[in-house]
Amino acid sequence: MTDSSPIAPHGGTLVDLFAADPEALAGEAANLPKVVANERELADLEMLATGALSPLTGFQGEADYHAVLDAMHLQSGLAWAIPVALGLSEDQLHRVGGAASIALCAEPGADPLAVLRVTGHFKRDKRKEATAVYRTDALEHPGVKALYDAGDHCVAGTLEVIALPKHDDFLNYRLKPAETREAFSQRAWKTVVGFQTRNPIHRAHEYIQKCALEIVDGLLVHPLMGATKADDVPPDVRMRCYEALFSGYYPHDRAMISIFPAAMRYAGPREAIWHAIARKNYGCTHFIVGRDHAGVGSYYGTYDAQKIFEEFEPGELGITPLMFEHSFYCVRCEGMGSPKTCPHEGDDRVILSGTKVRDMLRNGERPPLEFSRPEVADILIAAMREV
Ligand SMILES: [Zn+2]
Repeated sequence: MTDSSPIAPHGGTLVDLFAADPEALAGEAANLPKVVANERELADLEMLATGALSPLTGFQGEADYHAVLDAMHLQSGLAWAIPVALGLSEDQLHRVGGAASIALCAEPGADPLAVLRVTGHFKRDKRKEATAVYRTDALEHPGVKALYDAGDHCVAGTLEVIALPKHDDFLNYRLKPAETREAFSQRAWKTVVGFQTRNPIHRAHEYIQKCALEIVDGLLVHPLMGATKADDVPPDVRMRCYEALFSGYYPHDRAMISIFPAAMRYAGPREAIWHAIARKNYGCTHFIVGRDHAGVGSYYGTYDAQKIFEEFEPGELGITPLMFEHSFYCVRCEGMGSPKTCPHEGDDRVILSGTKVRDMLRNGERPPLEFSRPEVADILIAAMREV
């Protein structure tokens, strides 16, 4: 991290959990009891290792787990919205229960990625966690489902990392927090707005990003590429859409794309806070929060993910949320706008439901120019033909 970084990491220090001597640690790990982490836990491991979840240095213990669920703060008093826990099944707990250190692997028999210096175990209160984080206990909610699929116990401790989970895609877009910070410094950006997405970007979100960019130095489009729902657009298709948009419509000295390796939780309001804190660690000073940020189905109110920021004291989060309305092209305004800036109603506004857009794309039909850039539409049409 350089001194010219625009914003300090959460808690003041960018965490780096990589072992000084990874070979020696791998040697030790070979003889430790192994735990196979699931896809979400591996994403958390990557986030922890690189400092994206600073100030956390490992999987959280029972006291922090409950402090986060009860009051959205760590025991230290620092704001935090979602527990970062490593689940263990009854059987796993029985196997590794007494070990002072355990090795984490991506799959059975694979080389260990990290060693966890165990500080404790606890029983996971799934009902409490579901209700606090997801505001529902319904198993139809994908985050709640993943929670109930995970082990009933948790093991806490500090991580020492041998290697990140292996990726074979988008390697030039996988910047760690220290690297995005460095990239911002090189560009002399003093203020940077982060944009979270798990979808292709259409005109509405392009407009919101550019409105935000009008008041800051730089834009980080930071698509989440960890685990998502099966019906979300696949990462490679999304990346082709982002690249097409960037090559045609974004200023190269003011905008960059990098990957956010987190797994999607669909926790709506609490995930908006969690996303904002992580983006602060990546060096963003501002963060875009749209309607129903990180939502799924109808579990959250339209503005809940914006309102939750009011539950924190000014300055507590450090990063500045920028709240946006739903935006659209208005035929009478002859431009993009939102209910805040366009006085017209009904058919003047080019608004299409997600279902309508998917139907059009599936039929090989481009949505209106005012809704979607043709370059993006064509990539999505081609991708639907491959399915
Ligand atoms: Zn209008």
